[in-house]
Amino acid sequence: METWKKNLREIEPYTPGDQPNKAGMIKINTNENPYPPAPGVLKAIKEFEPDKLRLYPNPESLPIVEALADFYGRKKEEVFVGVGSDDVLAIAYMALFNSDKPILFPDITYSFYDVWAKLFRVPYRQIPLDENFRIKKEDYYAENGGILLANPNAPTSISESLENIEDIIKNNRDSIVIIDEAYVDFGGNSVLPLIDRYDNLLVVQTFSKARSMAGMRVGYAIGNPVLIRAMNDVKYSFNSYTMNLPALTFAVEAVRDKTYFEDTIQKIIRTRSWVMDDLKKLGFSFPDSKANFLFVTHKCCPAKELYEAMKRENIFVRYFNKERINNYLRVSIGTDEEMKKVVVFLEEYLKENNYI
Ligand code: PMP
Repeated sequence: METWKKNLREIEPYTPGDQPNKAGMIKINTNENPYPPAPGVLKAIKEFEPDKLRLYPNPESLPIVEALADFYGRKKEEVFVGVGSDDVLAIAYMALFNSDKPILFPDITYSFYDVWAKLFRVPYRQIPLDENFRIKKEDYYAENGGILLANPNAPTSISESLENIEDIIKNNRDSIVIIDEAYVDFGGNSVLPLIDRYDNLLVVQTFSKARSMAGMRVGYAIGNPVLIRAMNDVKYSFNSYTMNLPALTFAVEAVRDKTYFEDTIQKIIRTRSWVMDDLKKLGFSFPDSKANFLFVTHKCCPAKELYEAMKRENIFVRYFNKERINNYLRVSIGTDEEMKKVVVFLEEYLKENNYI
């Protein structure tokens, strides 16, 4: 082996969902929003002056930090912004998880969590969810170097109660607890109101789901100014200009339009509701979803088979070849029109193959 190869970092990376690009496809595999960003965003895109790109963007991401602080009624010192919540979480690992004790997160959750732990050499322990994919709060009373929970969780779609999450935070005043609320706007319970009471709590959210801007890459964290300062110190030690000017400009417009934000969420929740009814009738079961996706399993048809059959039909859903969840599919909520086609296909497929 060439000697230099010994210096290569070997790590198994996170694998995001496929990004196929086929005419007429129904892409419900990466929990994107099927609706466009707010009209104000589209207007700002049209009016954007390319000459502005000559200059570096604001290193403190102030336009969007201030817009978010305003939206949530927080101080700007309590807001951190990054290139999607993936970036925010990665920086949080570097800035906030520096103990010799393991950080804790569930065995079934966002599959980036263990990748970051390995990348940043943070010791970790994955705690099994119970048989209904629920968190057992007592499991998190164990000694730890930090806690990370997605609520609602992915890919299960389950939202834990505020009481349970607060109980975990309360019992871990000596470590930092990060709640990843990527999906909270679709009916979950946000712990944001708790940050005044718990200085060890960091809440992470994103523009990728409820604000229809996955392609823009904007995420944020809200918490105690001491946590935010530690994250900014790491960020500025790494890359001062992570947020590009278009992202800073357009994301502000998304925050300004609260009515569009709320209407879009309601549309998705309404679609989710009838899709749940229809899928139940076809023999599917799933946890009660508080996210923009369902985590479904069929009483007879194996998930992998269905995943392949849907793919042949240009319907893309997410399949995880992972213990405990390898008979489930994660199905994002698309438009009514898309979801009607999905239900029609599923009914035909299941009937033709004698699964119902
Ligand atoms: N957290 C969870 C639970 C997610 O499912 C995702 C989306 N893949 C993210 C964070 C990251 O999303 P983004 O970087 O687009 O904000």
